[in-house]
Amino acid sequence: MRITVLDHPLAGHFLTLLRNRETEPAIFRAVTHRLTTLLALEATRNLTAEPVAVETPMETTVGTHIAERIVAVPVLRAGLGMLEAFVEMLPEVSVGYVGLERDHATAIASAYYAKFPPDLGGLPVFVLDPMLATGGSAANAVDKLKAAGADRISMVCIIAAPEGVTLMNERHPDVRIVTAGLDRQLNDRKYIMPGLGDFSDRLYGT
Ligand code: URA
Repeated sequence: MRITVLDHPLAGHFLTLLRNRETEPAIFRAVTHRLTTLLALEATRNLTAEPVAVETPMETTVGTHIAERIVAVPVLRAGLGMLEAFVEMLPEVSVGYVGLERDHATAIASAYYAKFPPDLGGLPVFVLDPMLATGGSAANAVDKLKAAGADRISMVCIIAAPEGVTLMNERHPDVRIVTAGLDRQLNDRKYIMPGLGDFSDRLYGT
């Protein structure tokens, strides 16, 4: 299973703030940003860094730079809360969007919108979806990206449930998952336990 759970005291600290039911939306947004920055660091660990000459004030030396084009795809609407941290870290990132709706009765996801940058083949693509619950939305988003040519996809989430990880592993074993927490299970309404509740509601105060 290609899953990485952040192992850093700050990640645990931020995740606990997000879990806390008393955390207000303004703080929730700010902490989501900080935690996503840590997730972005881990998710981008395998990017190709190419050698490049750089002149310091003292002499010329060899540094590295990221030469490849990078794509971030937030899953609307919750994934938007993670986008800014990625853009801050990678200002040149190309951004696509996928809009998925979860039917509240059946918990089945369907896409109502998808728009991606062109020529995705070979590019690192980071799907931003904070709650990997059943995995249905994530797998659906990855289906759409693969149909558009993407073949180097990572899922970046705040919390993953074992059910979602298993589904992703069955449908898209090539996709790496980077998360800040792997929780116990889904409840009968398909919410992650212990989780943090409805991410969009917490983020937008709805
Ligand atoms: N989406 C959420 O916002 N929370 C969950 O627990 C599961 C899916």
